[in-house]
Amino acid sequence: MNEHWTHWLTAVGLSVFVSSIAYFKRWLTLPGAIAAAVVGSSVYGAGGWQGALPLLLFFFSSTLIPRLFGKREQSERREAGQVLANGGVAAICAWLSLCDPERATLWWTGAVASLAEAAGDTWATEFGTRLGKNPRLITNWRPASIGSSGAVSGAGFAANLVGVLFIVSFSALPLGLTLWQAFAATVGALTGGLLDSLLGATLQARFRCSVCGKVVESQTHCETRATPAQGCRYLQNSEVNFLCSAAAGLIACGLIWWG
Ligand SMILES: [Zn+2]
Repeated sequence: MNEHWTHWLTAVGLSVFVSSIAYFKRWLTLPGAIAAAVVGSSVYGAGGWQGALPLLLFFFSSTLIPRLFGKREQSERREAGQVLANGGVAAICAWLSLCDPERATLWWTGAVASLAEAAGDTWATEFGTRLGKNPRLITNWRPASIGSSGAVSGAGFAANLVGVLFIVSFSALPLGLTLWQAFAATVGALTGGLLDSLLGATLQARFRCSVCGKVVESQTHCETRATPAQGCRYLQNSEVNFLCSAAAGLIACGLIWWG
């Protein structure tokens, strides 16, 4: 029992430490850092460093890649909603692995798939918007504006694939996943990424800014509240991200369950 407590105290301590660095480096807002500490404690507590590894790989790659491009001011701090949209499914999977230890690697496959999906999405956005030529809308293949949700490009697709493989390949062995489980995580993550683009092109909310008149994806623009223009107003970027990382985890677990 004592060891148990020491382990969980270590989990909380390390997570608070890493989240504090992220907060003081202005990568996360305070609620974002608290959410990250909860997600980090869950995956480390349930899976040790092996469980925390895919989360750390996702977190540092998605935080550092935008900053590699040097646009420090535009790389905004992540809010709690964004943290939970990307890491929430992994935290749920971590708790499921504790409740159902006989199928622990099944749940860890789901966690890896959800984080690989989130990484693929972030990498695709970061590289696709900077290197992608002639992005097109995934639904009707018409030319789309760079960086808009649902716009896809060759560079974005390649970056998505590399982001997914980066997470899966570095996490599979430490977590003891079989080759089939790693494959299921990859398929889940890629399908989730596809769903992300599809939802981004169709149901995701767009708002019209009453100040500059632009159609934007966030509810506030030019420091005022924008009015709903199209899509479902409750399905914004974080909601879409959460749904797609959940889909990635479910597809990966489903493949193993019935495979
Ligand atoms: Zn505006």
